[in-house]
Amino acid sequence: MTDAADHAAGGPGLPQERRLVTEIPGPVSRAKFARRQEHVAAGVGTTLPVFVEAAGGGVLVDADGNSLIDLASGIAVTSVGNSAPAVVERVSEQVAAFTHTCFMVTPYDGYVDVAEKLGELTPGTHAKKSALLNSGAEAVENAVKIARAFTGRQAVAVVDHAYHGRTNLTMAMTAKNMPYKHSFGPFAGEVYRAPMSYPFREPAPITGEQAAERTIDVLEKQVGAANLSCLVIEPILGEGGFVVPADGFLPRLREWTEQSGIVLVADEIQTGFCRTGDWFACDHEGVVPDLVTTAKGIAGGFPLAAVTGRAEIMDAVHVGGLGGTYGGNPVACAAALGAIETMQKNDLAAAARRLGEVMTRRLGEIREEHACVGDVRGRGAMVAVEIVGTDGHSPEPVRAGRISAHCHQQGVVTLTCGTYGNVLRFLPPLVMPEPLLEEAFDVVAEAFAATA
Ligand SMILES: *Cc1c(COP(=O)(O)O)cnc(C)c1O
Repeated sequence: MTDAADHAAGGPGLPQERRLVTEIPGPVSRAKFARRQEHVAAGVGTTLPVFVEAAGGGVLVDADGNSLIDLASGIAVTSVGNSAPAVVERVSEQVAAFTHTCFMVTPYDGYVDVAEKLGELTPGTHAKKSALLNSGAEAVENAVKIARAFTGRQAVAVVDHAYHGRTNLTMAMTAKNMPYKHSFGPFAGEVYRAPMSYPFREPAPITGEQAAERTIDVLEKQVGAANLSCLVIEPILGEGGFVVPADGFLPRLREWTEQSGIVLVADEIQTGFCRTGDWFACDHEGVVPDLVTTAKGIAGGFPLAAVTGRAEIMDAVHVGGLGGTYGGNPVACAAALGAIETMQKNDLAAAARRLGEVMTRRLGEIREEHACVGDVRGRGAMVAVEIVGTDGHSPEPVRAGRISAHCHQQGVVTLTCGTYGNVLRFLPPLVMPEPLLEEAFDVVAEAFAATA
């Protein structure tokens, strides 16, 4: 791609630099935010109140002319960068041709092309089919519908610290009360929670297999394997704190679910599409789930989600039982095909591994100087630090918030997460230039020092 074409395409031609011309947020953003407060519901939160006017590569440019380094990717969405040229090109062509027919009324190629790609890219070589939806939560809901229809069973197993969305069923499946569930009950029934493998917070070291036995024991004794339609699990927890389970945890759960006739659903909405350095996080240990839910990184910023899985499971649902007005919208499908093409051509899985090396090296250096770093973890370009007190264990969400706020003031967009709110997470676009990532981590290091 030439520079001129980059410019024509929008974002990627932006100078890849951190540039602060006002305080953050600047006066223009503050005025816009006041208007936002007047018209937008208070329940819709904002991490960093700068209004964005352009974005591409590794930067966001705000209404005051500040250029901020993006370590959030709109929550793991713009893995291919904002306005990636192949996304812009395919979307522009599609939007000019037609914008909507509803796939359930009259079909079109883009939907089938995305389904075919999903079948190729998701783990396992078995026959697969897909259904396309609008959001991650909707994909998770549909995975549960499919698993129930296939097994004739009702119970759904999820794990501690899980995040699966904000709709009624997915609120029940999500672990954390505040802000996701508080005051929104009653929640859907037949959802059961079992322990996760969380190596940093185990009372005593245990192997992945032992952690899996603990999970299995709870489910067998408290629910009964014969009642379980599915086990839904993020292979690396997202909102729950970027928790990477101990090796062997997922393979043992795969073995048990297979023996027990339970559909294993990998929620790869945050981990999928090259984020962790493989196409999917399950690939790392060769785990082949029955169903995979995807969204976020799938379509370069367009709302698209999917359930992909074993053809015989997907086809257990009666005709008309799956779908939705906008699911697999043609423009979103064009965007997905552009994003997938970009990932394949530019080997963004390898890019994720390289960015991950930079981030873990820099966070390792910070850890040597700051006792508040309890844990550095993650995989590929999905990396986090857990901030703790002087005992090396107690969660310190206030310190994590101060570090993040310092980064924001210095023009680096960071996010926090975790059940205790004490995890700083880093999700750069996979097209982030490495020198810019190094500069962002200079700022992160400064933020640790400034808040000590
Ligand atoms: C973001 C997320 C969801 C929900 O996706 P939405 O598109 O926000 O509905 C579900 N599961 C995981 C793992 C996520 O990270």
